[in-house]
Amino acid sequence: MKNINGKVVVITGASSGMGAETAKKLGALGAKVVLGARRQEKLDSLVASIGDNARYMQSDVTKKEDVDRLLKFAIDTFGKIDVLWNNAGVMPISFFDEGNLEEWERMIDVNIKGVLYGIHAVLPHMIKNGNGHIISTSSTAGLKIFPSTGVYSATKGAVKSIMEGLREEMAGKIKVTTLYPGAVSTELGSDITSRKVFEMMEAMGQIATIDAEAIADAVVYAINQPNEVAVNEITIRPLQQAM
Ligand code: NDP
Repeated sequence: MKNINGKVVVITGASSGMGAETAKKLGALGAKVVLGARRQEKLDSLVASIGDNARYMQSDVTKKEDVDRLLKFAIDTFGKIDVLWNNAGVMPISFFDEGNLEEWERMIDVNIKGVLYGIHAVLPHMIKNGNGHIISTSSTAGLKIFPSTGVYSATKGAVKSIMEGLREEMAGKIKVTTLYPGAVSTELGSDITSRKVFEMMEAMGQIATIDAEAIADAVVYAINQPNEVAVNEITIRPLQQAM
């Protein structure tokens, strides 16, 4: 993994799930990881388990000043940012007629505006350095819409468009990778409040998921490529997932 050792990688949404799993892998491979999320105690124990090449800053991606501070902290601590992974996301899905406006707004704020704040904060630094790599987490739900996922899918579809626009503008300068995970067993969805979604899930029964490690391996693969190779899209589903 010679292209990972020494790289400075900032991950938002790193306190659990695929962000945390990837931080551990990257740290073990010699990357310097700077982790952001809101739950300080989770970040604290994660950083302690990775060791001296890991740092964290408590940060909320819905606050532009928090994202700016996280990225400045990474540069102040390790001198540069090679990779930013905009990974923070929430999925309080519901049906439109339940009218959960606050949850729609929260998904837009975290899943879209959080990604834009990350790009806004890091792009000048990467352009000045003449290189860099921006990764964002979309979803297979950004490619295919289901009853209850209208707003979540819209936010992940927005991530797809934002990242493709960024890729086209930054070709030759900065690497751009969009991840499209299918169902992964993480804490995602623990904030669902919709009665209709609970009923739907009960009717569906257990769905197949894969471990966050599969996503971590994919991110490691994308970051480990030589300078001239950009991995632009990665879709990973459980074998059983049809949609
Ligand atoms: P988790 O819920 O385990 O992780 C989500 C992360 O986002 C947590 O670290 C959480 O930390 C962070 N987060 C949430 N809100 C904020 C906020 N306002 N500011 C900063 N951080 C925030 O789920 P996953 O690992 O699955 O999710 C990672 C990404 O993958 C998300 O973008 C999700 O939409 C996407 N995804 C997940 C799939 C799945 O099946 N699990 C499938 C496809 C895409 P904290 O609460 O500490 O702030």
